Amino acid sequence: MASLTLKGITKRFGNTIALSNIDLSVDDGEFCVLLGPSGCGKSTLLQIISGLTVQDEGSVILDNELVDHLSPRDRDVAMVFQSYALYPHMTVAQNLAFGLRMRGIPKDIIDKNIMDTANLLGIQDLLKRRPKELSGGQRQRVAMGRALVRRPKLFLLDEPLSNLDAMLRISVRLELMRLHKQIQGTILYVTHDQVEAMTLGDKVVVMKAGNIHQIDRPEVIYNRPADTFVASFIGSPAMNIFKGKIVADKKGLMFKGEDFSLNVKNIPSNLKNKPVEIGIRPEDIEISTGAENELKTKIEIVSNVGSEKYIYARIGSATLTARTKKDDNFKSGKDILLSINPSTLHIFYNGKRV
Ligand code: ATP
Repeated sequence: MASLTLKGITKRFGNTIALSNIDLSVDDGEFCVLLGPSGCGKSTLLQIISGLTVQDEGSVILDNELVDHLSPRDRDVAMVFQSYALYPHMTVAQNLAFGLRMRGIPKDIIDKNIMDTANLLGIQDLLKRRPKELSGGQRQRVAMGRALVRRPKLFLLDEPLSNLDAMLRISVRLELMRLHKQIQGTILYVTHDQVEAMTLGDKVVVMKAGNIHQIDRPEVIYNRPADTFVASFIGSPAMNIFKGKIVADKKGLMFKGEDFSLNVKNIPSNLKNKPVEIGIRPEDIEISTGAENELKTKIEIVSNVGSEKYIYARIGSATLTARTKKDDNFKSGKDILLSINPSTLHIFYNGKRV
């Protein structure tokens, strides 16, 4: 396995800047997830690392060696595509063997690698079948197997779970986590699904429009989002974000929005009278506890997801989303008090975290 370093990768397609000066390091054995909305450049970055697309600027370094001049087959990188790209006329065993045969690996080594990989993935009984005789989850495993059998330096996985139904995604996600522990491979994994990113990644790279917004461990991305894009993209339901201004008041510094005011803590005094945005996670809002920041609101909608409920509460023209327990019995149309501990507030100035 190997480490990966990207330095200043830029890629343009005509007037579209698909990637803008991307710097990234992935450690040996690390599971790194590229997360971002459709069109942010995730797949283009994988294609550049694999050598299938050529960057306009910057370099790809695998294990301290520049690989820009190497063709895809000489980079020792394995890619798993969203479509799996299995050969339909070949059996599972032939699909697994194909890449090795093309490299002229001796048959006895190929056979051994296929058996080892099939055992690892639990697909020993499927080796004689063709792809059309497999379920979606089995096909996904074969596609992973085709990458694993080569023992590459680096795995590039492009939305490999997106063709699976919701239940299967969860179980294959767990399998992938186990597999990563076993093989200790270096993985770069692309997804637009934040749950997948947060559960799988040792490190998450949040991208938008060809730029990296934050690189960090999942818990840091969630607890200390670097800017309003990351704050609103990560978390479901999304963080409540409101525009307003920091003003001085008898109690100290306050956030003054269009519809409500809140005490704020640990704000640099030079933000006084400056426009800011505040962010409040739905789970950081308590209902009627008489804490510091109480807001009088009216429940608009109660949404029940089984394990918990979400309350959409109105205050002026603003709507706040708050999380409550599954047994709480709130009804729409009722007035409630919401309280927010100032230490849980996220504050952004010019879009960046303060
Ligand atoms: P998705 O999640 O939808 O696959 P993505 O984040 O992987 O999206 P890319 O496929 O990398 O995004 O595309 C990044 C940008 O580059 C998009 O604006 C896309 O339209 C553009 N793009 C990608 N490939 C080409 C191409 N071959 N020619 C022209 N534009 C392209």
